[in-house]
Amino acid sequence: MAVTSFLLLSQNPDKIVADGGEVCTIEELDTQKAIDSYFFVLDGDDKDSAIEMLRFIRSHPNTKIYLKPVVLGAGVAQQDTILSAAVDAVSHTNETSFPISEEQEELINKIVATQSYQQKITSILGQQQISLRILRFISSRKHIEQVPIMTPELLTGHSYPMLEQFFDSVDESIWKMLELLKNQHLLEGRFISKAYHCTHCESAFLNFMETCPDCKSANIKSDELVHHFRCGHAAAMQDFRTGDILVCPKCQQGLKHIGVDYDKPSLVFSCNDCQHVFAEPVPTTKCYRCGRRTNPEDQIQRTVYAYKISALGANVALFGQEQLFTKLLKENLDFMDNAGFQRVIVLEKSRVERYAISTSCVLVIDIKGLADALVELGERGLGFYKDLVNAFVETLRKSDILTVVGRSAVTILLTETNEEGAHLVLERLMENIEHIFEQSLSIPSNAMGKVIPVNNELNMNQLALSLSS
Ligand SMILES: [Zn+2]
Ligand SMILES: [Zn+2]
Ligand SMILES: [Zn+2]
Repeated sequence: MAVTSFLLLSQNPDKIVADGGEVCTIEELDTQKAIDSYFFVLDGDDKDSAIEMLRFIRSHPNTKIYLKPVVLGAGVAQQDTILSAAVDAVSHTNETSFPISEEQEELINKIVATQSYQQKITSILGQQQISLRILRFISSRKHIEQVPIMTPELLTGHSYPMLEQFFDSVDESIWKMLELLKNQHLLEGRFISKAYHCTHCESAFLNFMETCPDCKSANIKSDELVHHFRCGHAAAMQDFRTGDILVCPKCQQGLKHIGVDYDKPSLVFSCNDCQHVFAEPVPTTKCYRCGRRTNPEDQIQRTVYAYKISALGANVALFGQEQLFTKLLKENLDFMDNAGFQRVIVLEKSRVERYAISTSCVLVIDIKGLADALVELGERGLGFYKDLVNAFVETLRKSDILTVVGRSAVTILLTETNEEGAHLVLERLMENIEHIFEQSLSIPSNAMGKVIPVNNELNMNQLALSLSS
């Protein structure tokens, strides 16, 4: 087996480590040594610190840390089912030999070779980007289905062991996030089960009861309903019972043969608290956590899925949602990166100055509502992008060059176009964008645009500023 460098994360500096490994504390996770190492091993002797370290790794801003393959080392911590499922591999060997088997090493190789892990995109911090981090994680483990585990230890009754580490608190937010990503077609879900969650506190632990329609008590009993053919009397079985035989309480006749003398058409219920007799009890649920009673149909009914990355999700994991817009623009228009665009502007400026007969303009449109829109759109996201890109394709000419700055600012060079003409193009684009937003979302695009003529007053710094703002 190849000697692979791994870091054994432990608070114990005397921890024995196999060849190819090195002991490392949680504080050292920010160092280059940690970034360069092939995988991490959690000290299995200390469950609590293993959990803490795993959370620290998964919440780290650097992709090379938070996507790092993690192995749970030998020790008592392996008895924790959820922790064992939260890591990429569980070490089967003792501390003096290499912590992983060849098959496990293959799995680790796969993770390390993924585009998500290899990419050099700037670290993205913050809770608002958690969806992207989750996508990258699932994408970097694309052969592994994220299967929920049923557990009484979590409020929601199910655990997604690998994904939970990304959330500060274990609550319903993970469900909402996964549902959102599935609705956006970024994740594919395989049906596992249905689950009821308390509408007040999200708890999965609900007591389903049948209750009295009159006094709401659950203290009810059921009996068979007996119908005497001859006199038509119908009542609970207990009213007919006299010793070992059945006697009609109305006509006093004995009931011998079912189907001949009588039948039992249904059940009848009675309340031990208020003595009310009724045909249909009322189902209700009581939450074990918050104690509130709610009709079952008013509780949150969720579908539990096992998740995998979709093809679209794998793309978004690499570029982010907004960058997909850029990608589509690139496929359909004459697109340049920012530096190339600036060089073209410099050339255009000198051309306009030299010949003094032609005019060109730069158009800047910032669709400020784009990021919010994509969160709302769900499964319609891709169609929405395409409509937006079409608005540009239809309004611009083949000779126009564009670039995208930041998340949502499209900057276009309109050659041989005077200010008046550029304003017309801007107006048409803004109208189209507004229309697309209204049609799909009924929210304003908050798009802002301006026209900058290319002349000797055009200051490249100023343009750079408007590009970056
Ligand atoms: Zn009652
Ligand atoms: Zn009778
Ligand atoms: Zn509750």
